Amino acid sequence: MTTISELLRQGFARIDRYDARLLLCHVLECSKESLITKQDCVVDPERVDRYLHVIQQAADGYPVPYILGYHGFWNRNFHVTPDVLIPRPDTETLVENVLNILVDASAPRILEMGVGSGCIAVTLALEKPDARVVATDISEKALTVAKGNARRLGADNVTFLCGSWYEPVEGVFDIIVSNPPYIEPDDEHLPALRYEPIGALTDGVDGLSDIRTIARGAAEHLRPGGYLTLEHGYDQGAAVRSIFECNAFRDVHTVKDLGQNDRITIGRR
Ligand code: GLN
Repeated sequence: MTTISELLRQGFARIDRYDARLLLCHVLECSKESLITKQDCVVDPERVDRYLHVIQQAADGYPVPYILGYHGFWNRNFHVTPDVLIPRPDTETLVENVLNILVDASAPRILEMGVGSGCIAVTLALEKPDARVVATDISEKALTVAKGNARRLGADNVTFLCGSWYEPVEGVFDIIVSNPPYIEPDDEHLPALRYEPIGALTDGVDGLSDIRTIARGAAEHLRPGGYLTLEHGYDQGAAVRSIFECNAFRDVHTVKDLGQNDRITIGRR
């Protein structure tokens, strides 16, 4: 006879307490409050097994958002699967800066490349409802997840296209946004991210090759005065500014994330 409090005790012993509670709510399909009010309730054996299984997965390093099937970004939950990167809080810095740039723009044309879960494109589309957003990804599976998020969250102003970087893109935009794969292939943090799509994390070259591709192609797809805004690694600020400058961008500057690390670089055509 296993009770809720006994299961929580076992979860707390193995993984982060917050995650242990979240996973128990997920398996029991109940609220966090009822974990407290019903702590002496006996859990049926099938759910006990499921809980112990997901605790084991999480203890092995499998990401909790993939078990839950969603992750919070900005103020919304995005459906996630192992086909897409789990949205990171650092990426909210990118969204915040894009929204600041567009604060007075009416009906801005926004291009996001490498849409993944859709967290950036869908958030921009919802926060700026008159925007026309084009969002691309090379992965059909990622696009399926992103389209599902757009539909569920009510973003009907996003057009999704499949292809590599600018390949499927036509037209000119007011702003181009991307959180490209920027981790160096031999980075010591990469093994810990082994359950996320490798192509979303690293370019397999030097961490800057996709940033170069995006900066090189931007002029053709930006109106004069339009902005390029890219997320990058904490130690890539100087390198990314120099790539922007080599491609004739002006007003090039880097913005820090909430952890005070260089995180995004912005330039104007
Ligand atoms: N645009 C998505 C995000 O920021 C996916 C980025 C990626 O896969 N590199 O989370």
